[in-house]
Amino acid sequence: MTETAQENAGVRTVNNFLREQIAEDVRNKTYGDAPIQTRFPPEPNGYLHIGHAKAICLDFGLADEVGGKTNLRFDDTNPEKEETEYVESIQKDVRWLGFDWEKLCYASDYFGQLYEWALQLIRAGQAYVDDLSAEEIRQYRGTLTEPGKDSPYRNRSVEENLDLFTRMKGGEFPDGSRVLRAKIDMGSPNLNLRDPVMYRILHATHHRTGDEWCIYPMYDFAHGQSDSIEHVTHSMCTLEFADHQPLYRWYIEQLGIFPSHQFEFDRLNLTYTMLSKRKLLQLVQENRVSGWDDPRMPTLSGIRRRGFTPEAIRAFCASIGATRTNGTTDIEMLEHFQRDDLNRRASRAMAVLHPLKVVIDNYPEGKEEMVEVQNNPEDASAGTRQVPFSREIYIEQDDFREVPPPKYYRLSPGKEVRLRNAYFVTAKSVVKDATGNVIEVHCTYDPASRGGNSPDGRKVKSTMHWVSAKHAIDAEIRLYDKLFLKPDPYDFPEGGDLFDNLNPNSIEILTGAKLEPSLASAKVEDRFQFERVGYFCLDPDASPGKLVFNRTLPLKDTWAKIEKKAGA
Ligand code: ATP
Ligand code: MG
Repeated sequence: MTETAQENAGVRTVNNFLREQIAEDVRNKTYGDAPIQTRFPPEPNGYLHIGHAKAICLDFGLADEVGGKTNLRFDDTNPEKEETEYVESIQKDVRWLGFDWEKLCYASDYFGQLYEWALQLIRAGQAYVDDLSAEEIRQYRGTLTEPGKDSPYRNRSVEENLDLFTRMKGGEFPDGSRVLRAKIDMGSPNLNLRDPVMYRILHATHHRTGDEWCIYPMYDFAHGQSDSIEHVTHSMCTLEFADHQPLYRWYIEQLGIFPSHQFEFDRLNLTYTMLSKRKLLQLVQENRVSGWDDPRMPTLSGIRRRGFTPEAIRAFCASIGATRTNGTTDIEMLEHFQRDDLNRRASRAMAVLHPLKVVIDNYPEGKEEMVEVQNNPEDASAGTRQVPFSREIYIEQDDFREVPPPKYYRLSPGKEVRLRNAYFVTAKSVVKDATGNVIEVHCTYDPASRGGNSPDGRKVKSTMHWVSAKHAIDAEIRLYDKLFLKPDPYDFPEGGDLFDNLNPNSIEILTGAKLEPSLASAKVEDRFQFERVGYFCLDPDASPGKLVFNRTLPLKDTWAKIEKKAGA
C-alpha cells in the first residue's frame, strides 16, 4: 500500500458504495484470483479540474486499498479536440495529487484491435454500414416516447458491409458520408441501443496516430473494449453514463471478451464553481482568465497555483465519498479541508497588506532587536525564527481608528494593544495628510512588556501583527474571490449566458504590501499563514527582487461578522 492509500484509509468515508462493491467482489472472488484493476480515463481535451480529482481518488484510492492496480488511460478518440499539451498536464496533475499509475495507456493504441472487432461484428451480422446523413440518423432514431425506424441500409449483406467498411478505412469516402452502426434494436426503450454508431469518417490528424486513420471509433465502442483489453474489473464513471451501461455490456458480450463491469457514481458539483472542460476552455480562449492555471480556475493547475494542497483535496474527496444521486457540495467544505491542512502545516509569517506607519516615540532611535517567533504554534517541531523590530513599524490600516466604533478593541488614541511577540504599545497622536487621512500614528511602548508579555498582569484586548519598516520587503499581493457570483453559475435568465454570472471583482491586486524579511527566500508554491490575514503562497510570476503572493483563502474574519451583526 502506498503512503497515499494509508493516509486515505485513515479518513474513513461514511458513504461509499463503490468501496463496498469492490470489497464484495474481492470476497466473492468475482474475478477469480485476478487483482482488482481500475483505470482513470480522461479525454485529453483540457486540463483536469476538481471534479476529476474525485474520480482519481476513487479510481486510484479504492484499488490501492485492496492491493489493486490503476491505469491512466487517455480516451483519445476525438482527434479534433485533443492535444499533447493536455496529455502532459494530466499526467502532471495526477502525480501531484499523489497517485501513480500501473500502465500509461491510450485508447488510440487499441485502434487496430478495435477495427478487428468491428470486422468481427460485421461478419456476425451485428454491424452494418449506413449511408444516412447524421441528420437522418437522428430523425430515424425516434424519441423517448416513439420507437425508431430501420435505416434502409440496415440489411446490407455481410460482403457489402465488409467491402464498404474496408473502403471507409481506406479513405475513399468524405467525412460524414457513412458510418458503421451496431445492429441491435431500433425499438429499444433505451435510445443508446437503437443501432448506435460505432465508427465515423474523419480525415483529421490525431495527436498520436497522425494520419494513419481516417475512421475513428465512438466513445461507446472504444471505452468498454479498452477496459476489457486492460482487464479492468471495476470501470467507474459518472452517472450520466448509466444509460450507456447496457450498450457497454452488449459489445463485451457479443465479442466474448474480458467481462469488465461499469459502475456509476455521482458527479462532483460545487457551489460557485463551473466544472466543464469545454466551458473552462472558453474562459481561457476568451481571455476571461489568464490561462488554465489562473488561480481562480477550478482546474488542478489553477488551485495548485492558488496554494491548495493535494493532502487537503484527498481528504475532501474521501469525506464526500460516492453515492448514486447527484447533488451539490458547498465550496466552503473544500475550503474547510484546505484551511485545516494549512493551519496544521503552513509556516506563519507577518505581512501587512494595507500599511499604516507607526512610530514608537520612546524607542531609542537607531536601535534594532530581534524577537523570537514560533514558526507554527500548531507544530512545535517547526521551530522558531528571529524577526527584526525597530522604532518604526507598519500595521494594517484596519487596525487603527482615530474614532473607534463600539466594540473596536484595536489601536486607537489612548488605547494599549500588544504587538505580537514584541511589546505593548499605546497610541498617543496622529499625523494627517492634507485631506485629513491618518498617515502616521505615534505611540509609546512599555519596555517591560518584551516578548509581548504583560509586565504586571494588566490586560490588553488586542494582539496585532506588524513589520519593521526599515526591514520590510515589498510584495505584490493577489487577492482572489469567487469566479462566479451565484451558487449555481448556470442560474441565468433566458437569453442570458453562463458568463453573465462571472464576478467582475474576482481579483484584486495590492502593490504596496510590506512583509517580514524572512519571506524574501520563499520558493514557488511555498505556503504561509500571514498572521491574522489568511493563507498565501508564492506565485510563479515572482522573480528575484519581485515577490508575488496569491491569497489561497482568507482566515475567517471575526471582525467582519461582528460588524455585520451590529449592522454597521
Ligand atoms: P468535462 O465535462 O469536464 O469535460 P468529462 O466527463 O467529459 O468532464 P473526462 O475527461 O471524460 O471528462 O473524464 C474522465 C473521468 O473523470 C470520467 O470517468 C468522468 O466520469 C470523471 N469526471 C469528470 N467530471 C467529473 C466530476 N465533476 N465529478 C466526478 N467525476 C468526474
Ligand atoms: Mg468527456
